[in-house]
Amino acid sequence: MKILALDLEGRRIAFDSDRDFFFREPVLPGSLVKPIALLAIERAQLGGAGGRVVCPPSDSRVPSVLSCWDHRGHGSIDRSQALAYSCNRFFVERGAEVPPEIFASTLAAVGLSGGSGARAFPPGERAALWCGVHPEFRCLAAELLTGLLAAAGEGLWAYSNERLLPVKTRGALIDEWARDPQSRKEVEAAIRDIRRGLEGTASFGTAKEARWRWPALVKTGTSPDAADQGTDGWVFVLTPIQKPKTALLLYRPKSRGKDAWASAVGALALLHP
Ligand SMILES: [Zn+2]
Repeated sequence: MKILALDLEGRRIAFDSDRDFFFREPVLPGSLVKPIALLAIERAQLGGAGGRVVCPPSDSRVPSVLSCWDHRGHGSIDRSQALAYSCNRFFVERGAEVPPEIFASTLAAVGLSGGSGARAFPPGERAALWCGVHPEFRCLAAELLTGLLAAAGEGLWAYSNERLLPVKTRGALIDEWARDPQSRKEVEAAIRDIRRGLEGTASFGTAKEARWRWPALVKTGTSPDAADQGTDGWVFVLTPIQKPKTALLLYRPKSRGKDAWASAVGALALLHP
């Protein structure tokens, strides 16, 4: 298990169990990319806040890019619920028409470098892109952590040795994403819904089993492990929600996202005794 924890008040890296892993090894982000993918979808202005998607039950014996990881289906869901449940169908369907360049420029705007480029992913490969499991889309885990902070409206941060440097405020990022006052409102609403979705992850979504004593924004993810055909679990945590003190990324090999969240609850208890 590997942990990278940021002290946002002290503007420093609070804990880092494996610097080479977090800062040098490109990884598949799995569902942790979904908050950033949602920003890209909204930047492409595909339906705005009302855009619901129906995630129907599917047959687990018939693999399909349109099937969700939960074969019971999530029903009719909005974008916050899509994040809380990590619904693949929502991202595949809403993401289908987003030009890959907008996805790439959104990744760049939140500080993710590797793997995105402006490469045109053929339509048939985009489902894997939106769900963070495309083998050619990898990023550094440390960048993924600060990228998720940016997507959650906490501004853009950069690392310098043990320090954290503020690069852009939330307002400056929104100015960059918005083309006019109307789209500024839409981007702000999207960020509010991203936060609502990540808040729901811990209360009714994919991380509801374990409990952390403070309110937290949480995103779990499960990515394929190319080495052994199994899966690896990921979790992003920002806590408390208002005036956050700690941002944490936890990687637990040979597990799933919800198991990573259970481990993160233990790690948070050690960081905040
Ligand atoms: Zn679903």
